[in-house]
Amino acid sequence: MVAGERLDFDDGVALLETDDVLALGELADLARRLRGGTDEVYFVQNLYVSQTNVCRVKCKFCAFAATRKQPHAYTLTTEELVEDVLRQREVTGFTELHMVNGENPHVDFAFYRDTIAALHAALPDVHLKCYTASEIHHMTTLSGLTHEEVLRELRDAGLGSLPGGGAEIFADRVRRIIAPGKEPAEIWFHVHDTAHRLGIPTHCTMLYGHVETYEERVDHILRLREQQDRTGGFLAFIPLAFHPENTVFERRGWRHTTGVDDLKMLAFSRLMLDNVDHIKAYWIMMGMPLAAIALHFGADDVQGTVVREEIFHAAGARTETEQKIEQLVRFVREAGRIPVQRDTLYNELRRWE
Ligand code: SF4
Repeated sequence: MVAGERLDFDDGVALLETDDVLALGELADLARRLRGGTDEVYFVQNLYVSQTNVCRVKCKFCAFAATRKQPHAYTLTTEELVEDVLRQREVTGFTELHMVNGENPHVDFAFYRDTIAALHAALPDVHLKCYTASEIHHMTTLSGLTHEEVLRELRDAGLGSLPGGGAEIFADRVRRIIAPGKEPAEIWFHVHDTAHRLGIPTHCTMLYGHVETYEERVDHILRLREQQDRTGGFLAFIPLAFHPENTVFERRGWRHTTGVDDLKMLAFSRLMLDNVDHIKAYWIMMGMPLAAIALHFGADDVQGTVVREEIFHAAGARTETEQKIEQLVRFVREAGRIPVQRDTLYNELRRWE
C-alpha cells in the first residue's frame, strides 16, 4: 500500500479478518494522508426529509416502509413538503436537503419532478440531494422513461446529487435474502453511471453487519472502486451498520455491530477505496465518541448536523442544531483535527482553527 500498489480481493479479506485493529487504523490513516488528506474533518448542515413512506418493496431490514392502508402511512403533497421545509429553514440554516422515500406505486413521475422543481424554486441556494438509485429506477417503471431521461428531467428541475442508498450488498445471494423485491446490483450501477455521465455527482454506501460474508463485503467495495475508475462521480463512501430494531432480524435475536466492527469497516473502506476522496463516519448512528476515534481510522467526514426544530427557537433560544454543532466541533478538536463546515460538493463554508 505504501508502495502505491492497489489492494486486491485477497488483501481485502485479510484486512477484515485481522484482529490487530489498531494497526489497521494506523494504516488507514496513513493511506488517507498519503492520498492528500489533511487534518480537516468535514460536516454539512443538512435536513433529512421523506415525502412518502409508502413502499411496494418490503426489504426485510427496513423499519420505515408502510403499505398505503397502514395507519402510519403518509404521502405529503408537494405543497405540504415545501411548507414544512421552509418552516425548518427559518430556524436552521441548512445548505443541503437530503430526501429519500419509499417506492410508492400510487404516484407518478410528475410527483417527483414537480417536487424537485418546487423545492428548487422555494430554496434556490439549497443543494437537493434526493432519491436513491432504487427510486430513480422506480420512476422509470412508473413513466416508461429511461434512467437517462428521468435523471435529465430531474437535473433540469433542480436536482443536485443522488444519495447512495439502495446499494445494500451487491452480491445476488445477499440481495435474495434481505431484499428480494429490490432490483439487482447492475441497475444500481447503471443509475449511478448515467448520473455521473450527466454531471450529477452521487454517493455510495454499503449496508453491513447482517447476512453477508467478508468476501461479499470485499466484492462490494471492489465493484464501487471499478465504477469510480470509470466515471469518478462518487463524492463519498458511507458504510452503514445494520440496525435490527423493528425488523424480522430483531425477532431472530440479531444484535448491533460492535464499535470494533464499525472501526474496522471504516479502515477497510479507506484502504480499499483508493479513488474515493471522502469516507464518512456517520456520527448520528455511531455516536460522537466513536466517530471521534473513527477520524483516526480513515474517516474524514462526520456527516450532517441539522435536527428538526420547533419554531419558538427563532425567538432567540440556542437551537438544538447549534448545540450539536458546538458539540461536534469540540469532539473533532479533541481528536486533534480541524472542523470544517462544507457544502454538499465539499466547498468550505466555515472553519474552526
Ligand atoms: S425499498 Fe427502501 S423503503 Fe422500501 S422496503 Fe426497501 S429499504 Fe424500505
